[in-house]
Amino acid sequence: MHTPEENKTIVINGEKVPPGKNKLVRIEIARLPTGTLIDIPIHVFNAKKAGPTVLLQAGLHGDEINGVETLRRMLQQDRFKIKKGAVIVVPILNIFGFIHFSRDVPDGKDVNRSFPGRKTGSLASRIAFNYTSMVMPQVDLAIDLHTGGGQRSNFPQVRYTADDENSKALAAAFGAPIYFASRLIAGSFRKTMSKLNKPTIVYEAGESMRFDDQAIERGIAGIQNVLSKLGMLPKAKKMPKSNHLESTKWVRSSRAGMFIPEIHNGSKITKGQVLGMITDVYSKKTRQVKAPFDGVVFCINHQAVVNQGDALFHVGR
Ligand SMILES: [Zn+2]
Repeated sequence: MHTPEENKTIVINGEKVPPGKNKLVRIEIARLPTGTLIDIPIHVFNAKKAGPTVLLQAGLHGDEINGVETLRRMLQQDRFKIKKGAVIVVPILNIFGFIHFSRDVPDGKDVNRSFPGRKTGSLASRIAFNYTSMVMPQVDLAIDLHTGGGQRSNFPQVRYTADDENSKALAAAFGAPIYFASRLIAGSFRKTMSKLNKPTIVYEAGESMRFDDQAIERGIAGIQNVLSKLGMLPKAKKMPKSNHLESTKWVRSSRAGMFIPEIHNGSKITKGQVLGMITDVYSKKTRQVKAPFDGVVFCINHQAVVNQGDALFHVGR
């Protein structure tokens, strides 16, 4: 019998995980052309005592593997011995993208632009639909793990939804080096969660298809900080202060050429400081890329050949 002090039973795709039990459940998504079934493994940790249900997910973009490794390490190290509530861990949401080393599903659609999805839609839309209907209803809040897209490398950072004080508090509790508000993108997981009033933060760290140990370890620490803050894990050890950015801006390339960054990600910058060089491929024309204001660099594009207007540095103050 369910008593007020006892946590709810988590039900995903008809599979029940009662309080006090842990279980690996799977939701079936689709088959490969060869007939192999693709399903999403979901680890459920359900404590006896009532508390919030936290969703931890990675690989919504299949090539953003730092998050996948973050959750894998946490599972391997048995870090979900929670005192109350439940944790739902999805190490790879977009399995199709993961096995193709791709952000998207095979038809080129982005699952994180396909929420809440449709039952009879495209593959990305079906993945989103299954997830929205089977996983989201069980969840109170979420941490979504990403990296920079393409060859952009993100200094460890947390993004929360503007005007959502609950998501801002989660972002502060995470304790990444920086955190800031970012707008909701149409079709994103976070937007659908926000409409359901379920606070969600996005941890962005490192770049696609490349492990970044600092990003992974800060991710593990951040998740533990949030679970501690919610009273689900013992008190976390003290972290360096997380800096809040009031505004952010992309510094873009004024011309095409070879791009050579000259600062480290996470560096403090002063207005007018040279951040990098754009140099002509054939002649010796070189142009400096300068800081627009005093602040910090929290993303660097590591693409060597750039076009006019390409995003080079993401800076904030
Ligand atoms: Zn992403």
